[in-house]
Amino acid sequence: MCGIVGISAETNVAAEIYDSLLMLQHRGQDAAGMSVCDNDDKLKTRKSMGYVRDVFQQRHMDKLIGNYGIGHVRYPTAGGAGKEYAQPMYVNSPYGISAAHNGNLTNAKHLSTQLFHAEMRHLKTDSDSEVLLNIFAHELAKQREIYPSAEHIFKAVSKTHIRCDGAYAVLALITGHGILAFRDNNGIRPLSIGIRKGKSRDEYILASEDAMFTPLGFTKMRDVEPGEAIFIDKKGELFSQQCSDEPKKRPCIFEYVYFSRPDSKIDEISVYKARMRMGSKLAEQIIKQKPDHDIDVVIPIPDSSTTAAHELAVGLGIPYREGFVKNRYIGRTFIMPYQEERKKSVRRKLNILDLEFDGKNVLLVDDSIVRGTTSKKIIEMARDAGAKKVYFASAAPAIKYQNLYGIDMPATSELIASNRSNEEVANEINADWLIYQTLEDLIDTAKSGNPDITEYETSIFTGEYITPLVENYLEELESSRKDEIKTQREKSKANG
Ligand code: AMP
Repeated sequence: MCGIVGISAETNVAAEIYDSLLMLQHRGQDAAGMSVCDNDDKLKTRKSMGYVRDVFQQRHMDKLIGNYGIGHVRYPTAGGAGKEYAQPMYVNSPYGISAAHNGNLTNAKHLSTQLFHAEMRHLKTDSDSEVLLNIFAHELAKQREIYPSAEHIFKAVSKTHIRCDGAYAVLALITGHGILAFRDNNGIRPLSIGIRKGKSRDEYILASEDAMFTPLGFTKMRDVEPGEAIFIDKKGELFSQQCSDEPKKRPCIFEYVYFSRPDSKIDEISVYKARMRMGSKLAEQIIKQKPDHDIDVVIPIPDSSTTAAHELAVGLGIPYREGFVKNRYIGRTFIMPYQEERKKSVRRKLNILDLEFDGKNVLLVDDSIVRGTTSKKIIEMARDAGAKKVYFASAAPAIKYQNLYGIDMPATSELIASNRSNEEVANEINADWLIYQTLEDLIDTAKSGNPDITEYETSIFTGEYITPLVENYLEELESSRKDEIKTQREKSKANG
């Protein structure tokens, strides 16, 4: 998963892009970068591995001068993890285009062959984002315009939509011209736009999440529509156009479960409220399935499950207690590449307050169960702290299939629920009872926020992918995501 932001203003935008990237840091901690362009069409870029605060030092910020620009935080989903994958990526022709991408193309390999053989473009990495950038650049170059208008740019976006399959929310900086935003025709990954009055023109922000709009003085205009492109030229004039023949809003439901900040609204649905509803729905299910339950206390696994856990406790009418204290200064454990490290890191990341467990029947709540590493370890900790019975609730349904649209999920075979029943998963994580949200209820939690959206991207729960898939794509992805393959890849990289 990644986070993207773009700002077009009257004065320097680098500081506000930096602040925005800090607010998007949860979407990617592997690398960060930004490109800005000034009135003399000079482009400046800084990108590197690491957290936003580490990548941008004062000496970098001093050089990032420009009144329009884009930024990116990266969490590797396709391609490797290295400096060359940091974004914005750049192609020098036409005009010099930099791009920041959130999502994943499912036909990148096929497109990169086309780019090389038919379009004579060389790619430096195996990143699907580089493919996407080159496809767009090629389509824009084909129009042979020295001064491209919004119309030319939108035509290139339309062609890009036709050629690219998968998920993409993109921000591109076209040197000397302006910033462009577009979203795939299902709107799988989020993107929204905000506006602010400048002295003599309107200023704009485009970002994966809108949480930073208000702090930076912007007002949200709307979400970018699936298939739509928005171009803000360097003088601040805004153009927009639907560039897809078949736009259909099907946003990724996992944004509401786990990824997005609770203070963001995605496709007009408050993430916070959706999470509250996830808790209430779980309470209803528990009452239905176990009317005589003996739960004494509800305990969230911080942070992404706290909102749901609180509402779950309210729904059951029993106390909500904080049983774990999170060390906020460690990265998310899932990001650690290998299983052994992941297990250790859960223990280091979460410390337990024994007194909330001793002699009690506890219901632990997490937003989701992926490999099961966290839940297994947490249940062991709860038992060690004296819990009598440990029940477990997941605010998301069982994750059974790999994700193709930009979420870093392990290979299907490494997902604990991939070929296990709920009872088998409960046994595996050593829970006395396990309850998952039903998919129907999860969809309802989002739908209640925006009844106009009737479909969601839910493939990790159903295995039904909503975009065309090239032959063998699933198999190839499956093998490249296995831990052992990742280990080998890292080792061979380390050995040069
Ligand atoms: P696991 O320990 O593998 O079962 O992972 C479950 C935990 O990882 C949950 O606490 C989630 O909050 C978190 N999680 C879910 N999906 C992701 C993801 N794609 N990247 C990082 N963390 C995740």
